[in-house]
Amino acid sequence: MSDTATPPAARPPVTIRMHEGDNVAIVANDGGLPAGTVLTDGLVLRERVPQGHKVALVDIAADTAVRRYGIPIGQALEDIPAGSWVHERLLQMPAARGLEGLPVATVKPPALPPLTGYTFEGYRNADGSVGTRNILAITQTVQCVAGVADIAVQRIRAELLPKYPNVDDVVALAHGYGCGVAIDAPGAEVPIRTLRNISLNPNFGGEVMVVSLGCEKLQPERLLPPGSIALVDHRGFGEARPDALDVIRLQDETHVGFMAMVETIVRQAEPHLQRLNARRRETVPASELVVGVQCGGSDAFSGVTANPAVGFCTDLLVRAGASVMFSETTEVRDGIAQLTSRASTPEVAAAIIREMAWYDAYLQRGGADRSANTTPGNKAGGLSNIVEKAMGSIVKSGTVPITGVLSPGEKLRSKGLTYAATPASDFICGTLQLAAGMNLHVFTTGRGTPYGLAAVPVIKVATRSELARRWHDLMDINAGSIADGTARIEDVGWELFRFMLDVASGTKKTWTEHWKLHNALVLFNPAPVT
Ligand code: CA
Repeated sequence: MSDTATPPAARPPVTIRMHEGDNVAIVANDGGLPAGTVLTDGLVLRERVPQGHKVALVDIAADTAVRRYGIPIGQALEDIPAGSWVHERLLQMPAARGLEGLPVATVKPPALPPLTGYTFEGYRNADGSVGTRNILAITQTVQCVAGVADIAVQRIRAELLPKYPNVDDVVALAHGYGCGVAIDAPGAEVPIRTLRNISLNPNFGGEVMVVSLGCEKLQPERLLPPGSIALVDHRGFGEARPDALDVIRLQDETHVGFMAMVETIVRQAEPHLQRLNARRRETVPASELVVGVQCGGSDAFSGVTANPAVGFCTDLLVRAGASVMFSETTEVRDGIAQLTSRASTPEVAAAIIREMAWYDAYLQRGGADRSANTTPGNKAGGLSNIVEKAMGSIVKSGTVPITGVLSPGEKLRSKGLTYAATPASDFICGTLQLAAGMNLHVFTTGRGTPYGLAAVPVIKVATRSELARRWHDLMDINAGSIADGTARIEDVGWELFRFMLDVASGTKKTWTEHWKLHNALVLFNPAPVT
């Protein structure tokens, strides 16, 4: 945002205060507001305040709290007169909340009536899960095979896919793991189970084919031990799958030269494509949605517009019996007391604390703490520190009780709201939510990111109308209308909910699907490499 930008003259100054106890509000106008602007309550800006940044509503004395979302987001480092721009250089970040003595399961869940009658058209799988897309995935045990698998996938797309119109795509599950790693070290189970569970994602229809090199540490039988793939239909009928794992080993002597390897992969893909192609969408209840929510490229509007709208939608989904995961440990760590108090049982609260403690120790081993999270773009967008960012991030989880907790890479087994512990990194969070079994991804952004995944549709929600206009062919939903005053949080929440059902049914596509914008899978490997 340029310092010379001037606000559109047509629009009166708009500031947003999140909580009645707040002593700051954020400026909503595109381009910010210049010095001398008179706000509706008569307060005069002492200096220019960029869009998304905070203005002091009252005189804030040095060493007293700057409050947003009703909580202290920092102590003032000097006296801040009313009307000043409150930027991150004026704030001392509060210390992280300890993990002892937290409130446990103290919040009485809101009485929200069940939401019935909402359905989508999905692909029912043998293990009982439901896909929103019908994709052949090519699992890889090790990075060494990625180049060969990629060439094979290009050939399958060009030569085979036109024969199988019910199959949406073929994707190569390339990654950086599999060899050169301490595969028996504590923590190695995280990347291994992540890869296993991604290959079993509902959008891949249970058709698992594996490309292996031969000599790698992560052998196919270790990646997918017997019994990890559902062989018969969960309802007791339908075709049983072949019970042997379908593995192509590039070092097998039968492969004479590169082209022979590609031929084998292409040939062995065909029976999988035939079975996938024979599947049809069927009407399933909205409770079969497994939604992963996350944010990336956040700004001060994330916690004002897009994330609250996603939170409203989270409540709708849970009321409809669906599964919703929220994640991003470093971005919710500062709100841990809110999370443990929203846990449905003491056991769930204990699991939240266990995951946070593990992550605190992980960061400490690396000589970092949660303050490493905020980016230059976050700060330029008005987010002073991780405490402020966390409050805006947690609202994606809505108001329903937290009923489940997942460790990184684990598969989701419960309905309702789950805290799926993952790093906040967009790619790693998305990869781990894929492993948990998400069939739809919701991603909010304020600064803007073209993030997308090959395996599931990614619905992108813009926090500001200016971004939604500028990135008109990348953003699916504009929550900026909330700051503009033309829509309420619940309006955008419902719009998102209905759009999700259409996208899940395949009757609408997201922009990243349209353009085929696919980010790489990035595994979380807390164990050493060798
Ligand atoms: Ca993120």
